[in-house]
Amino acid sequence: MSDQVRVRFAPSPTGYLHVGGARTALFNWLYARHTGGVFVLRIEDTDKARNTDAAMQAIFDGMRWLGLDWDEGPHAGGEHGPYFQSQREDVYLRYFEKLKADGYLYEDGGAWRFKFARKKIVMDDLVCGRVEVDMAHVETHPDMTIRRSDGGWIFHFVNVVDDIEMRITHVIRGDDHLSNTPKHLQLFEALGVQPPRYGHIPLILNPDGSKMSKRDTGSAVGWYEENGFAPEAVTNFLSLLGWNPKTEQEVMPTAEIVSLFDVAAIHRKAAVFDIAKCEWMNQQYIIKMPVEQLAALVEPILAKANIATTRETLLPVLVLVRERLKRLTDAPSWVDYFFTEAVTFDPEAVEKVMRKPGALDRLRALDAVYRTTAWNAVELEVALKAAATAAGAKVGEFVHPARVAATGRTVGASLYHTLEVLGRERVLARFARALAEFAV
Ligand code: GLU
Repeated sequence: MSDQVRVRFAPSPTGYLHVGGARTALFNWLYARHTGGVFVLRIEDTDKARNTDAAMQAIFDGMRWLGLDWDEGPHAGGEHGPYFQSQREDVYLRYFEKLKADGYLYEDGGAWRFKFARKKIVMDDLVCGRVEVDMAHVETHPDMTIRRSDGGWIFHFVNVVDDIEMRITHVIRGDDHLSNTPKHLQLFEALGVQPPRYGHIPLILNPDGSKMSKRDTGSAVGWYEENGFAPEAVTNFLSLLGWNPKTEQEVMPTAEIVSLFDVAAIHRKAAVFDIAKCEWMNQQYIIKMPVEQLAALVEPILAKANIATTRETLLPVLVLVRERLKRLTDAPSWVDYFFTEAVTFDPEAVEKVMRKPGALDRLRALDAVYRTTAWNAVELEVALKAAATAAGAKVGEFVHPARVAATGRTVGASLYHTLEVLGRERVLARFARALAEFAV
């Protein structure tokens, strides 16, 4: 038998893809990629009443968006399929008959129960260490149902059968399953199969210590895409929920996380989910990622906001504004005036800046100077400062009207670089328009 690591993510498609589930998927994926192993996606859809197609789609979409590609599973195929439990009836029947023939099952009101061996079960968990559960007493550990009277299969049974059939070597899952594991180990024993290694990863809590719920911001993976997060930033953020590389370093490219990741280094104590940290991380990625990659992420968002760009015109603008973006979805409001001549003037900016006595005179003076200034940020700055000195004005008294005239608002990236990127012709046309529109 090869000792290649085989791990799986085994979600039940009953809701949206939760960050807890995504983190479980990520840790399995990281372990597979770190060890050169195989990552399996198995859909645990035996509960027909609670499964939905939308939930299934959210799992596929969320994992793809995060970059968690699976080697075996739906769409990918593989030797151990089908990868939907709803399509594995014959497999379950085979194992069921075997357990029955070997005397491990008995009927109880039409359902089938598995007889636990009455003993102490010792687990050697990769994360939690040694955990003992005494199953000696039927009062505390009644025999478990593995098949309902309607013929439906119970989670514990199909989960174990599939881990056997799919040759899973390591089960990395949420610690809400820790109490199920002794039951699973009993099934392995009855079936005469060596169980996988288990590692139960810690709960995710809000900063106030409460359990994360559906209502908490950022609890669904889809939220991050809709709200302008870069996938790698979210992957990086999730990787630190219960693990760290034992250095101060937090922002790491995925490839580096893969090379550093280790199941044995997963923490036992609950992980704290802090959406502000995720935003901070997103900003780090926006600032540092190759600008071409940033453009590819921002383009669909701009298109949706009806801002027409080309890669060539967008790149210099992104270089200029990227440090201001907390989220990719902030981009439209930071870049729109680079891509339209129909600049709208923020009424407050007009009131505060353009209506100030002398503002238009100063803009007129700058306009005259800028007709001949060499068009680069350094020269534009020198020329503006000289014009301010000549007029006996403060630099700000020239900067503010120029910015409002050129962009319609009072905040933005460096004025001189903004003007440089806009180009002389457009800047002077905007100055002229402002001078005409706000003349008293
Ligand atoms: N379908 C189970 C769940 O979503 C899988 C548990 C496991 O990973 O073994 O919780």
